[in-house]
Amino acid sequence: MATSRRTVAVAAGQVRSTSRSPLDVPAQYVKGVGPARAVQLARLGLHTVEDLLYHAPHRYEDRSHLASIASLVPGQKQTTEGVVLALSEKRHGAYQFVAALSDNTAVLQAIWFGQRYLRRVIRRGTRLIVHGKVERAGRLQMMVEEFEILTGDDTDTLHTGRIVPMHPATEGLSARVLRTIIAQALSQYRDGVPEVLSPAIRHRHDLLPLGEALRAIHFPRSLPEADAAHQRLAFDELLILQLGVLMRRQALQTIDKGVRYAGDGDLLHRFISVLPYPPTRAQRRVLDEIAADLRRPAPMNRLLHGDVGSGKTVVAAAALWLCVGGGYQGALMAPTEILAEQHYLTFRRLLAPLGVRVGLVTGGAAKREREHVRDALRAGDVDVAIGTHALLEEGVTFGRLGLVVVDEQHKFGVTQRATLRRKGFHPDVLVMTATPIPRTLSMTLYGDLDVSVLDEMPPGRGAVRTYVRGPEKRPEVYAWVREQVGSGRQAYIVCPLIEESEKLQVEAAVRLAERLGEEVFRDVPLSVLHGRMRPEEKEQVMDAFRGGTTKILVATPVIEVGIDVPQATIMVIEDADRFGLAQLHQLRGRIGRGTGASHCILLSSLATDAARERMETMAHTHDGFVVAQRDLELRGPGEILGTRQHGLPDLRIADPLADVAILELARDEARRLLADDPGLTRREDAVLGRQVRRRFVVRTTVAVG
Ligand code: ADP
Ligand code: MG
Repeated sequence: MATSRRTVAVAAGQVRSTSRSPLDVPAQYVKGVGPARAVQLARLGLHTVEDLLYHAPHRYEDRSHLASIASLVPGQKQTTEGVVLALSEKRHGAYQFVAALSDNTAVLQAIWFGQRYLRRVIRRGTRLIVHGKVERAGRLQMMVEEFEILTGDDTDTLHTGRIVPMHPATEGLSARVLRTIIAQALSQYRDGVPEVLSPAIRHRHDLLPLGEALRAIHFPRSLPEADAAHQRLAFDELLILQLGVLMRRQALQTIDKGVRYAGDGDLLHRFISVLPYPPTRAQRRVLDEIAADLRRPAPMNRLLHGDVGSGKTVVAAAALWLCVGGGYQGALMAPTEILAEQHYLTFRRLLAPLGVRVGLVTGGAAKREREHVRDALRAGDVDVAIGTHALLEEGVTFGRLGLVVVDEQHKFGVTQRATLRRKGFHPDVLVMTATPIPRTLSMTLYGDLDVSVLDEMPPGRGAVRTYVRGPEKRPEVYAWVREQVGSGRQAYIVCPLIEESEKLQVEAAVRLAERLGEEVFRDVPLSVLHGRMRPEEKEQVMDAFRGGTTKILVATPVIEVGIDVPQATIMVIEDADRFGLAQLHQLRGRIGRGTGASHCILLSSLATDAARERMETMAHTHDGFVVAQRDLELRGPGEILGTRQHGLPDLRIADPLADVAILELARDEARRLLADDPGLTRREDAVLGRQVRRRFVVRTTVAVG
């Protein structure tokens, strides 16, 4: 994570070199660091003074209360102070260094293990603060975890006798060493760090000055002071993030993409008239939002968010139709070949009646075919290109690309989305996702996007029931599936997830299909589907399943995304505990698409608490929003947020889940600032402006968030 932060800073640095600031000084120049320590620091992602100053503790230990030795309580972790009366070492067995400490109330044997160097630093008469577990083994003793030598009248302790910061450390670089280095960095460089916020902003939100906050986040005098420091630093970080995102958005608003929407409201009516069903109210509303965007001179930059099965595909098709109706081409990118092929079929069905020519661009197609489609796209003989990553290849060019749609956008990185949009002149962009995230998070991640929500399921969906069964119930589960299939239903059997290798994954699927075909489902038409099949093979398998000739589809988790076969109503997921919640929800979204009742069976051993939690969540919740919230709670925001994947700088201090209130303040402040000073060029905002530009590349070709 930390390495990525570097990359962002470097990339931005190329755009605009920042003025010399103590923050940019290499960590190696901090007193006491040197080349060897610098290498260890780099392993933690700490390269500069800035990295050190912003390496916040993950917790604090209150060692400010000094107990007298006589009042120490065996069994507790405590802190005390005394003068060394006598020293001894135990050399047989594990090395121990023992100092008898006295504070005139009693004597304590302070014990260290294996630290021979101590005999050089601790002498008779040395005054010490020690912290550790107190024990009574005949004599009163303490297993020392932290200690500090007090010299002269120096009362500023680092490791004991205060609220002590515990920094994320690593092998070879203890929290103690890190604490010392950070204290040094603070004393050397803190005064030179320029204040980022104007006095007006600081007063408005009652925030500590930056220098104070940097000291107090590491070495607070009280826990409320640590909170205040966090508040200040998190505010900075979120403000900079919001400013960057809003400035991107601002930059986009100034672009004139040219007129590319034919604009007669008839287009939408014509689309709806060929749809096999009326659009839901939510679909109508979203389509109106999109049409309004297309009409504007600035390019659309919109996120369509709707739970699995809410009908995003139709919305994409309508948007592409509006674009084609205006005389432009459109492209839709999907993360897997199977999904691209399915979309290709759907779009042909929906759009061919309107005279739209649809082409398929995947890596798996034969060379001649690929070239044929490429030529047609370049010449403008194909109106809509549906494809995978293959769309990004250099050879794929468009005559007049007007709209880019990215399906399952969380499966792509920023650069991929940016590559696709560069194939047109500021095309309109629609990204779609089924991964719901709470509003505050979307403010952070998608702040530069307009958001549309499909909050309604198409009517007439049968209920989905979810059951969790132990592996010993497998025979019964299969017998039940047999029975169901016998009465005309269709089923998915999803193989266990093998993350290490696709090859192993594929082998496992093939083996499972063989075994099931021979042993359990001998007279049932069954096929296997995996990512390594040739495109024609995949197509055949999907066709047969869609057509109902195949009753059971044994599949690798490739079917996770997008697949739509409404009459399949049963799903068995093998070793379901290997999947994350979001994945399980996506998988389960493959059923419950038709009118009949659907059943999802999770085969899982419930070996761990985490597995049990996930399975229970799945059994009780079918609402994607709730599942996502639970996922967030179980895994923490870091993994799911993936700010880097969104082309945003990592958050070092703020936790967008816990710091919601700060996030909202920062957002309001960002709006207010930009309203008065859109380029952040006023003198009092100049440092802030530099910080934003340092972290964000604000260009007119904006990366889609
Ligand atoms: P997702 O949002 O997960 O991509 P899809 O676009 O695949 O969902 O749609 C799920 C299913 O709902 C498809 O079978 C589609 O044909 C159907 N569907 C979409 N919109 C409607 C509607 N308005 N009325 C009835 N069925 C619909
Ligand atoms: Mg979809």
